[in-house]
Amino acid sequence: MATIKDAMYVLRALKKSGYEAFFVGGCVRDYLMKKDSNDIDITTNAKPHEVMKVFKKAKPTGIQYGTVSIPNENYSIEITTYRKDGVYIDNRHPETVEEVLTVEEDVKRRDFTINGLVMNDAMQIFDHVGGKDDIKNKMIRAIGEPTERFNEDALRILRAVYFQAKFGFQIEKNTRTAMEEQKELIHNLAKERVLNETLKILKEKEQLKALKTLDTTGISRILPGLDKGIKYIVETQKEPLFIDTFFALCFTLNGSVPSEWKFSNVAKNKYEKTVHLVNMRRPLTDVDLFTYGLEICLLANKVSFLLNYTPFQKQALEKRFETLPIKSSLDLKFRANDLIQLLNKKQGAWVSKYIDELTILVLEQKIENTYDSIKAYVLKKEANHEK
Ligand code: ATP
Ligand code: MG
Repeated sequence: MATIKDAMYVLRALKKSGYEAFFVGGCVRDYLMKKDSNDIDITTNAKPHEVMKVFKKAKPTGIQYGTVSIPNENYSIEITTYRKDGVYIDNRHPETVEEVLTVEEDVKRRDFTINGLVMNDAMQIFDHVGGKDDIKNKMIRAIGEPTERFNEDALRILRAVYFQAKFGFQIEKNTRTAMEEQKELIHNLAKERVLNETLKILKEKEQLKALKTLDTTGISRILPGLDKGIKYIVETQKEPLFIDTFFALCFTLNGSVPSEWKFSNVAKNKYEKTVHLVNMRRPLTDVDLFTYGLEICLLANKVSFLLNYTPFQKQALEKRFETLPIKSSLDLKFRANDLIQLLNKKQGAWVSKYIDELTILVLEQKIENTYDSIKAYVLKKEANHEK
């Protein structure tokens, strides 16, 4: 988290060296809305190498776009030379960026009016795009011609939804129509970026409002496997969902986890197991708790509950997990070696099958987890077998 005041020295130092410099974008918007910012952006007519001369700590972090950054512990200060973007390739990256002379021109390339305000070192705000009124009226509006702006960079379609999720603002009519009409361009974006922007949307307070927009504009149909889930959530929920609950519910209704999403293996595995458990449509057993662990069982129960398949059983599951006779096969008091010795047979695939069977019997509390009672069970079983 950062405030404008933390970075005021940057504007002053650039000014002292003879350059123009302004705070720009999110940090000015957040200042007007009396909120903290994630990071601070500064726009200046100084060239990157000139900025680096003024601040020894500055590193080139996006030099092809004219950006250098001053790293801090919890936030960064990004300083970008006034620019305008050339022709866009792949609906995302300008092929060239061109330096421009004035801050007015720089703000025209930015996405939404609320992100196009600049502020000087005397805390005066300059509004070349109508951003102040839009903040007042709680409105997300593309700068310039919306169709053109989404065509240049389709990520802006999801960014509009993100700012709605963050602030609860309405999306201006023409901007919204253009998002709807151009939604297919999202297919051209890198999958990592789509995931990243989707996660940003889900983390914000007004998640449900944003999901409603995704549903009614049909953008949800572009996001693999989320369509049915988003519709269901919008129709039934009053509170935002946790990210895992959201994806697990969507993928349950979808029937599988689409491979297009670039989840970590841990997350993918979690969602796949949850989908499997929920779609079995039966109450969770102690064997499930043992096999899948508490986290996945709680997630599966939450999703089953939201889908009206089963009652909510968070506390009961936690308690049952606590009192499971064993939590891992290492906890079994009768081990593979004991079995081999007792039966005097060669090591083989039969061992782990046998151990699994014993594990389940212990979990189902049909035998006690002691060496003696498991041994007694094995001997009895073998005797029956030989009869
Ligand atoms: P957040 O609070 O999420 O950080 P932000 O407005 O600061 O919101 P950033 O992604 O940090 O958003 O971008 C900083 C600024 O750069 C924006 O305010 C906007 O002016 C500009 N910007 C960022 N991404 C784009 C884009 N895809 N197209 C046009 N301008 C953009
Ligand atoms: Mg930012």
